[in-house]
Amino acid sequence: MPELPDVEAFRRILASCAQGRVIRRIEVRDPGVLHGIGATRLRRALEGRRFGRPERHGKWLIARTGGPTLLLHFGMTGELVCATPGDPVHAHDRVVFTVRKDRQLRYRDQRKLQGLWLVDDDGLTRMLGDQGPDAATATAADLRGAVAGRHGTVKSVLMDQSALAGLGNLLADEILWRARLHPARRARGLTDDECTRLHAELRRTLRAAVRAGRVPPRRSWLTGHRDDPNPACPRCAARLHRGRSAGRGTVWCPRCQPDPTARHRPQRSR
Ligand SMILES: [Zn+2]
Repeated sequence: MPELPDVEAFRRILASCAQGRVIRRIEVRDPGVLHGIGATRLRRALEGRRFGRPERHGKWLIARTGGPTLLLHFGMTGELVCATPGDPVHAHDRVVFTVRKDRQLRYRDQRKLQGLWLVDDDGLTRMLGDQGPDAATATAADLRGAVAGRHGTVKSVLMDQSALAGLGNLLADEILWRARLHPARRARGLTDDECTRLHAELRRTLRAAVRAGRVPPRRSWLTGHRDDPNPACPRCAARLHRGRSAGRGTVWCPRCQPDPTARHRPQRSR
């Protein structure tokens, strides 16, 4: 599932493939990905305009054109591909922007959970108005503010786009493992030191993942072990636990990330 680092990679693809280029032609191969606009109106609004410098907020990609702004969200399976017109069309290429004779920007998505919106400035403010600060640039104070005001577990707050924008399931698990915090800890119960640690690991993880263009499944990362049949913690070698937290499949290390409720239970013999 595309998270902040993936969308940042799509932003770079848009920039290198299409920034400064005139949109010559838009082919809507599946109008099911368009929201609030039909294929004809989209073409009329954007053909002949020029892609400006793309921006990103959380998991949203913001493509300015000098007129209306194209907003893209990649849901669970979306991606942005730079192709040439001669490349075979993929079954999941939903919208194809031809930006010069030899370049096409293709919005490719299998499941079509999100898609494309065309908005003016007010619409942009409305669409992104419920987003929290972007996770890549959030300060320690932003993070403190996000966890302090919210009920629920720290994992659910990290994944709540209105608290902090850009994190998904993989990043939330990775960051919590690095910060040695159990995913079911109450967000409001974090100490100041724990918030500072969480912020430091958030920044460190995002920097590396943005460089990689995704959450890399490295063996030194928790992410590199989540699909192992008998996953072991790359830090302490304990058997990793799997469960559900914030409604998502969650992986954590019971030794590095102690269960917050365990201290109230009778001590288990080893
Ligand atoms: Zn461990």
